[in-house]
Amino acid sequence: MAQSPNDSIAVLAIAAHRDDVEQTCGGTLLKMAERGYRTAILDLTRGEMGTRGTAADRTREATEAARILRVSWRGALDIPDGRVENTWENRLMVAAVIRTLRPRVLILPYEKGRHPDHYNASKLSYEACFLAGLSKLEVPPAEEHLDIAPLDSANSKFEIQKLKISTAHRPFKIIYASLYYDVRPTFVVDITDQFDRRFEALMAYRSQYEDQQAGRGLFPARAEIRQRVETMARFYGLLAGVTYAEPFVQHEVGLVEDITALPVKSI
Ligand SMILES: [Zn+2]
Repeated sequence: MAQSPNDSIAVLAIAAHRDDVEQTCGGTLLKMAERGYRTAILDLTRGEMGTRGTAADRTREATEAARILRVSWRGALDIPDGRVENTWENRLMVAAVIRTLRPRVLILPYEKGRHPDHYNASKLSYEACFLAGLSKLEVPPAEEHLDIAPLDSANSKFEIQKLKISTAHRPFKIIYASLYYDVRPTFVVDITDQFDRRFEALMAYRSQYEDQQAGRGLFPARAEIRQRVETMARFYGLLAGVTYAEPFVQHEVGLVEDITALPVKSI
């Protein structure tokens, strides 16, 4: 349903770290872009705590990954890596981006998990949505906190040179990418046709994933990563009778118009 009006973004994915989206919902973003929707990614941190590579390496890699996933806009805030906290200041920064991009659908990390940055990113972003919708709340611009990827492909005409905070906005729908947590998804998205390119987007983070000396033992080799990523996608695909899928949780009930059109075989 419905692209958001004019210049706005249909789907925004927010994640704690660069490369989270590539692992949890990148196939879905690519699929939506292929259907003509504008998509965007907001990473809350820039990856300066990573064992391998620098934040500058990560910026370059995130841009390349964004191109592969055909996103129209990608930015990274300057929240410290490993210290994603649900503070008033952080909520306002995220609210500023939400008001600017005005997404109809927001993908957040699932609200539970092993890494505190992931579940904190979830709660912080949810509460930022709430703030973004308060018309009397003045939200300061976030541009000085944003590192915006220089996307210049035909699909990335949507550029925000100067972020202007317009009127209040809340996403219509919030869904949670649940791959990092062992919870039964409410639905999965078939990414069979997008799986290989999603994997390439993940592999764009060469400083993280290329076979190399630094951090050996801590980081698995590319072949093993491929196997893990494939196993997860295959597992969620099997739940719905497709080859590869990405899992999501939604907190609202599903609404059905025609029960004969319900997908996924029961027996
Ligand atoms: Zn992460």
